[in-house]
Amino acid sequence: MRPDVSDYARKLVRGPKDEIDFRISAHFKGREIAWPPTVGSLFKLPPAAMIHNFKKLVKSEHPTEQDFQGFTKFLYGQSMYDTFFGPYIEKKLPAIKGGELHRDWWILARRTIANEIDTGQDRYLSKVSGQRMATKPAPPSLKKKLIKSIDIAYKMWLNLRSKNMPRVMYPHGGIGMIAEGIKDEFLRLGGTLITNSGGTKLTRDASGRITRVEWGSGAIDAPDHVVWTGSIHELADCLDVPRAKVDYLSIALVYVTTKKPITNADFLYTYYGEPDLIFNRLYFPTRAVKCLAPAGKDSVCAEYSPPQGLEDIDRKDLETKVVDGLIKLKHLKREDVEGVKVRVAKDAYPIYPIDYLARLNVLWDKIRAVPNLASVGRTGQFYYNNMALTVCLGHDLARKLLGQPSYWEEQRDKAAAAAAAPVALERDH
Ligand SMILES: Cc1cc2nc3c(=O)[nH]c(=O)nc-3n(C[C@H](O)[C@H](O)[C@H](O)COP(=O)(O)OP(=O)(O)OC[C@H]3O[C@@H](n4cnc5c(N)ncnc54)[C@H](O)[C@@H]3O)c2cc1C
Repeated sequence: MRPDVSDYARKLVRGPKDEIDFRISAHFKGREIAWPPTVGSLFKLPPAAMIHNFKKLVKSEHPTEQDFQGFTKFLYGQSMYDTFFGPYIEKKLPAIKGGELHRDWWILARRTIANEIDTGQDRYLSKVSGQRMATKPAPPSLKKKLIKSIDIAYKMWLNLRSKNMPRVMYPHGGIGMIAEGIKDEFLRLGGTLITNSGGTKLTRDASGRITRVEWGSGAIDAPDHVVWTGSIHELADCLDVPRAKVDYLSIALVYVTTKKPITNADFLYTYYGEPDLIFNRLYFPTRAVKCLAPAGKDSVCAEYSPPQGLEDIDRKDLETKVVDGLIKLKHLKREDVEGVKVRVAKDAYPIYPIDYLARLNVLWDKIRAVPNLASVGRTGQFYYNNMALTVCLGHDLARKLLGQPSYWEEQRDKAAAAAAAPVALERDH
């Protein structure tokens, strides 16, 4: 991750924050496996998965499979796919099969503000970009394999001892404090923010340029630039062009507050592969920051992907099944529940079919033809990303609007300049 994004978030976040080790877990066949693994959890893995991991470490090859199923089987082995990855993805994205989901979804393949895949300076993504090659890349030399295996084993050793862990920032007021802090700065610099606008209408001239933006309570004429962060389907409708043939998944989030601290939960969040549990993920906010629940109380949020869409969910039934699951996992007793609330998150996950880029490009050709329009972000690019990657896009877009090179353009220019610089062969005495 670019260092400037972390610094930016640290500087602007509203209120106090903690920076914590990022360790989560996966739950399958009644076992909980920490990730990155701890010494204890490593030995809870199915033996076939351990053997697979060992072989992979020795071979040091990169996967070339394009689909989620092939990719995760290559990395973690058949037994892990059968026990966790397969059942998990079926619950998480019921609308698509593991063999039809593009692996870019799993690896959060990065995209530029122009919606092109960007391997940039990311060594891992550069290596796995073999996915776009028809043939397998040549196997690495024995020396390279050895160095790589030692490097992986060393990093695993550090992680097992909780050293050199990835870290995340968590504000005391909840994750929304990052966006609130950015908003504060935007207003301080003189920006105007209108929320809950709705009813967007775009008017264009003969050249395709947007000449007027209207929303529920106002309008702007002759905008220099229009940046869209809403659904790409709604944008297609506003531009009067065909929608891209891709679908978002809308989800339900079930918030449970408790009268007592939740038990048997050590991590910020846990993924569940078991088909008899209705949720695919649980978040435990107090495992990041204790003050997110009043003293002596606690909360947990369960994520549920409705197979038939949001319209069909029976909220009462969902609440009951979530609480039943929490009891089964020994997180609480029924009498400990203080309240349960269901909230829906529309268009929460973009789903990538194998040819998702080609499907998106049909729409992007139309978007690129509008000179003063950029559609960016998770929903605006149909891009399964995280907050940090969205902030990266925001920075790059700001640079573009200011006539400056984007981050990756700058990195490439630096690399090209370094390669072209004369190399001193001898020391200058
Ligand atoms: C369940 C879940 C858990 C997640 N957990 C994490 C996590 O732990 N860490 C992490 O880094 N990321 C996480 N993410 C991802 C993170 O939330 C997104 O990457 C981030 O919110 C993307 O920001 P964005 O601005 O690109 O898009 P969005 O957050 O989708 O923002 C788009 C904005 O556009 C507005 N909008 C839409 N249509 C219109 C319109 N017509 N007119 C005006 N405004 C409009 C919307 O109201 C919204 O405010 C999670 C996402 C989900 C769904």
